Amino acid sequence: MGSSACSSVIIIGAGISGISAAKVLAENGVDDLVILEASDRIGGRIRKEDFGGLPVEIGAGWVAGVGGKVSNPVWELANKSGLRTCFSDYSNARYNIYDQSGNIFPSGLAADSYNKAVNSAIQELKNQEAKLHGTSTISEPPSSPETPIELAIDFVLHDFEMAEVEPISTYTEYGDQEFLVADERGYEFLLYKMAETFLFTSEGKIADSRLQLNKVVREIQYSRNGVTVKTEDGCVYQANYVILSASVGVLQSDLISFRPPLPKWKTEAIMKCEVMVYTKIFLKFPYKFWPCGPDKEFFLYAHERRGYYTFWQHMENAYPGSNILVVTLTNEESKRVESQTDEETMKEAMAVLRDMFGPDVPEATQILIPRWWNNRFQRGSYSNYPILSSRQDFVDIKASVGRVFFTGEHTSERFSGYVHGGYLSGIETSESLLEEMRRVDDDKEKGGKSMESQTFLLEPLLALTESLTLTQKEAVSDLHKWDMARQLFLNGKLVVQEAIK
Ligand SMILES: Cc1cc2nc3c(=O)[nH]c(=O)nc-3n(C[C@H](O)[C@H](O)[C@H](O)COP(=O)(O)OP(=O)(O)OC[C@H]3O[C@@H](n4cnc5c(N)ncnc54)[C@H](O)[C@@H]3O)c2cc1C
Repeated sequence: MGSSACSSVIIIGAGISGISAAKVLAENGVDDLVILEASDRIGGRIRKEDFGGLPVEIGAGWVAGVGGKVSNPVWELANKSGLRTCFSDYSNARYNIYDQSGNIFPSGLAADSYNKAVNSAIQELKNQEAKLHGTSTISEPPSSPETPIELAIDFVLHDFEMAEVEPISTYTEYGDQEFLVADERGYEFLLYKMAETFLFTSEGKIADSRLQLNKVVREIQYSRNGVTVKTEDGCVYQANYVILSASVGVLQSDLISFRPPLPKWKTEAIMKCEVMVYTKIFLKFPYKFWPCGPDKEFFLYAHERRGYYTFWQHMENAYPGSNILVVTLTNEESKRVESQTDEETMKEAMAVLRDMFGPDVPEATQILIPRWWNNRFQRGSYSNYPILSSRQDFVDIKASVGRVFFTGEHTSERFSGYVHGGYLSGIETSESLLEEMRRVDDDKEKGGKSMESQTFLLEPLLALTESLTLTQKEAVSDLHKWDMARQLFLNGKLVVQEAIK
């Protein structure tokens, strides 16, 4: 087994949360850190690929939450780096819903279907509330979408608007605009800019041994004396603390084992969080055959199977002359497509396009299908908290366990699921760790018995029971998230109604 020198902190994962966490530590004098990243690059779920001669974002594509009173920190980073972005105007999607014969639905019908979907969601929320509080009997079951247009709108409402965790915070705090990144350096350029402030770079590349790529962490041992991290290639790393930024999908899988095992409250919080799969499929054509112009950027396909190649976008606003279309699938459809060959998927997508635009549509020359679900370093696209999650779930998922600190978009109470959630969570986690380090130093100086050592004396017992926290968990009420869920819903309602009317 190879071994490596002891560091103060090991950071697992070089996505935006891992890099922002490392930057805060380095700025505060903790520069004997090491970042272990499983893949061969930094960025995680922010990832550009070359496709048809252009950079396309197969992971995060938008800076969401722009134009409000408070500035989104990721939008500030994008502006500082001069990242090229395009405003996305979803409001015209209402005029662009195609049936299977290529006819566009009248916008009035779309508005009716939308109202039906909203009313059904309100009913569902009321029923859930009644069930939760046991206050009244459930009045009527929510109506289900039936027709292809109702299914298409239900899909957009639930899998895009409602499924995004806490748009209430992102859109009310930062504004309701979204900007698509269309820059040849990619969204990931923001991470390089951040990394170069504390890691050595040479010719635009990170050349610093504190960033170790292709290091798949398989085991984390933690005790009162420190942490030992083992990687798949047999290396062993030791440190005082570890910050773990792997996605919640990875935490739910068996990729990383913990010694002692994580306590029950922690594993329960991890398992409660749902994972969304969101797949952008890119198709390159020899020429354009779809209507162009800014008001045609987004269009929907109405099919009797919910989520079947429903949501389309042309790339002409971002890259004029690119002849690229993107279709977005989610969850079960994403998993289905991930498990079949690219040729099969191409055939399905081409049949849908010929339904919408006629039999003369030319064959795509290239297709790109990211597989986030089957990627063992991701296991999904982003976290999605069930609508009635309690605040305690968030507290538990981000709480540290002994010397193991947790970070990543899933630990952001207000912005989970977003790039800015990952960015801010990295900062918050490092700030908590720095506080802990200062406290331990103070205790040492005082010569007294530190709180920490008292806590670690209990460790074997806690590991045995797997039921208590090794850190101080806040006791919080259940009300908070529920209130937010209702506001989220109202917010989603306003946003999409606006788009459909
Ligand atoms: C398809 C898609 C579209 C999205 N669209 C948007 C959008 O438009 N706007 C938006 O704001 N957000 C979007 N998101 C969400 C956003 O990308 C994420 O919230 C954010 O990038 C997560 O950052 P992170 O640092 O928490 O996690 P990650 O980026 O996943 O970083 C974690 C890192 O840990 C590494 N890792 C995992 N396991 C191990 C291990 N065992 N050992 C070592 N390293 C390990 C991974 O390789 C990864 O690099 C999208 C995500 C996807 C997938």
